[in-house]
Amino acid sequence: MKLSFDDTQRAFAHKSNFDLQKAYRLFQTFSYPWLVNNGPKLANFALSIGLPINGLIKKTIFHQFCGGETITESAKSAIELHANGIGAILDYSVEGEADNQAYIAAFEELKKVILEAAHQPAYPFAVFKCTGIGSFNALGAASEGGSLTAKQTEELAELSTRVNQLCALAAQHNVKILIDAEETWIQQAIDELAVAHMREFNQGQVIVYNTIQLYRTGRIAEIQRQIAAARAGGYKLGFKLVRGAYMEKERLRAAEKGYVSPIHVSKEDTDRDYDEALTLCFENKDMVSIMAGTHNEASSYLLAQLIADAQLDKKDDRFWFAQLYGMSDHISFNLAHAGYNVAKYLPYGPVKEVLPYLSRRAQENSSVKGQAGRELSLIITEMKRRKLA
Ligand SMILES: Cc1cc2nc3c(=O)[nH]c(=O)nc-3n(C[C@H](O)[C@H](O)[C@H](O)COP(=O)(O)OP(=O)(O)OC[C@H]3O[C@@H](n4cnc5c(N)ncnc54)[C@H](O)[C@@H]3O)c2cc1C
Repeated sequence: MKLSFDDTQRAFAHKSNFDLQKAYRLFQTFSYPWLVNNGPKLANFALSIGLPINGLIKKTIFHQFCGGETITESAKSAIELHANGIGAILDYSVEGEADNQAYIAAFEELKKVILEAAHQPAYPFAVFKCTGIGSFNALGAASEGGSLTAKQTEELAELSTRVNQLCALAAQHNVKILIDAEETWIQQAIDELAVAHMREFNQGQVIVYNTIQLYRTGRIAEIQRQIAAARAGGYKLGFKLVRGAYMEKERLRAAEKGYVSPIHVSKEDTDRDYDEALTLCFENKDMVSIMAGTHNEASSYLLAQLIADAQLDKKDDRFWFAQLYGMSDHISFNLAHAGYNVAKYLPYGPVKEVLPYLSRRAQENSSVKGQAGRELSLIITEMKRRKLA
């Protein structure tokens, strides 16, 4: 199988020298821990007292990781990705707004995303987070399995109705829809909602995808259990497989509350389970559709290899690779060029409200050993290549 992620020329063909320089400077600033830890707080404060820094943020970190403030503004990035054979997944990334008005506004926006995906081939999926359209508290209480207050019962019912309406709209327009995974202490209720909607809408084809975090212990057994239940119930499954984004928070909470951390003790354990989950889902491809949501090269190669070994069409709609906008273009662009189904989450929303998302990206890219090292070295390789050319 001829697939390589080393081709930086292809990975950055869409970036001018100026854009590449900008990305280089941005990723370099992530190596200053003080800036990464305090930058978003300072930006938030500055914006709230009316300092004119909106434009500065928009030209720098926002430009790297987001499509725009609105769907219309994000279209330019989506069209550019589409021209390179990559789909965009409009990700309305407004976070931390925890009141009913905000849930309703997000719900209305998500309906627009689904309708946009229904009419534009550039958008192969829609996506949402349950906590964007409903109460974190109610999800937590339901996940604990205890009794709910009247308010929590009402909030959970409202959330459930919204999830149902989004999935129904997606099914009506034949749009595949992803449900993101969140913190373990609210995830049980999210999983139950997701399973109920997979049962309802994944009869003939897969419309609804749930997310499985493989940094959690016991997820392989959970996938096996869900596969058995779906086979018995006569419906199909969609799984977006990710490693998981809340590791520090999970470990901290477990230590504070004195329970065993639900997260694997080592990266090797997470990697092993991730690849095992990919293989397990692939073995059940008659009724499981897979999205490999990862920036990990070995796991991306693994899915490509499984498809090649089984002599399946690279464009088989059951298999998708996905990365985040502004990251791991060497994986996305090279996979797309090789003919695989690839999509990138394209976050959008008003600058101030997207700050928590941008803060997470800065954190994630701040370890020189990890993603920042990877992104920087790829950018440097491409800058050197261009100089020599
Ligand atoms: C398209 C897409 C969708 C996503 N959706 C979600 C989502 O819905 N929910 C969600 O939680 N995350 C989501 N993520 C983020 C994802 O969970 C990871 O945080 C991120 O992609 C980094 O993991 P990786 O597989 O790319 O690669 P890698 O860089 O190889 O792995 C890093 C990850 O490994 C795990 N890890 C690192 N160190 C250790 C350790 N010491 N012990 C145990 N595990 C460790 C952590 O999960 C860490 O994020 C998504 C990512 C993508 C690309």
